[in-house]
Amino acid sequence: MDVVESFLSAVRSTLATLTHGAIALLIPAAFFIALAILLKRGEAIAAGRRAAHEVRTNLGLYFIDIVLVVPALGVLTVAVATAMRALHLIVVPAEFWLMVGAPLTLLAAVFVGDFVGYWRHRLEHTRWLWPSHAIHHSDTEMTWLTLDRFHPINRVTTTIIDSSALLALGIPAWAAVANGLVRHYYGYFIHADLPWTYGPLSRVFVSPAMHRWHHARELRYAGTNFATVFSIFDQAFGTFRLPGPCDVPLGLEDDTGRGVAGQLAYPFKRWFGPLFSRKPAKAADQP
Ligand SMILES: [Zn+2]
Ligand SMILES: [Zn+2]
Repeated sequence: MDVVESFLSAVRSTLATLTHGAIALLIPAAFFIALAILLKRGEAIAAGRRAAHEVRTNLGLYFIDIVLVVPALGVLTVAVATAMRALHLIVVPAEFWLMVGAPLTLLAAVFVGDFVGYWRHRLEHTRWLWPSHAIHHSDTEMTWLTLDRFHPINRVTTTIIDSSALLALGIPAWAAVANGLVRHYYGYFIHADLPWTYGPLSRVFVSPAMHRWHHARELRYAGTNFATVFSIFDQAFGTFRLPGPCDVPLGLEDDTGRGVAGQLAYPFKRWFGPLFSRKPAKAADQP
């Protein structure tokens, strides 16, 4: 009886998570659909149809993420925080941020968060982490929902690197959460199919056009524009490229697998496939 009750309780809680997850998408969906209709007019429906198969994969990964990955990442974040405290790795005391005040703390959290995110993203483009990051680049019809196309292993490396950097700086939990929300919702915006380059403001902020170049199929473009919020970091480290609105083919030359199952299996095939195959593995295209 207990087993049946536990099973039913797990089903109820999963259904509640899925419902909350669907509701969380409603406002961004309404916003980006309205923008698409305003900008593309009659072409919006055809663009939606073209993107439908990629959107299905992105939604599949999103729902797997909120049911299975997010709870695991919560536990992982607590474990990282506990380990860092035990090892005395928190170098800035909490009092410093109390003295600085909330608005500057928030700005620092987003700025430092983006600096760390920039270098973590560059690490994801090295041959060790590229297989788990590649599926984010495999969307050929990029939309705002491409932000939800990440492999769970990519989520784990992001969480460990980003949260340990913010923890080391003693950034308070509320500011770290606020930084996560800014990156999430601004992340939706820069993945949307918008031709905006921001003009002179592109020297400060990442625009949708700038991030679209990062998703270009041609490797010389995909190896640029790693920041999420501030383009300053790409300019400082020589990876800024914004020739105008991005109108080149997106995605990857490599086949990263069909649908959700194929995408989830891809990095394991890249990492461990050669161990079980007699044929020499073809090197993956890696920007
Ligand atoms: Zn990337
Ligand atoms: Zn992206």
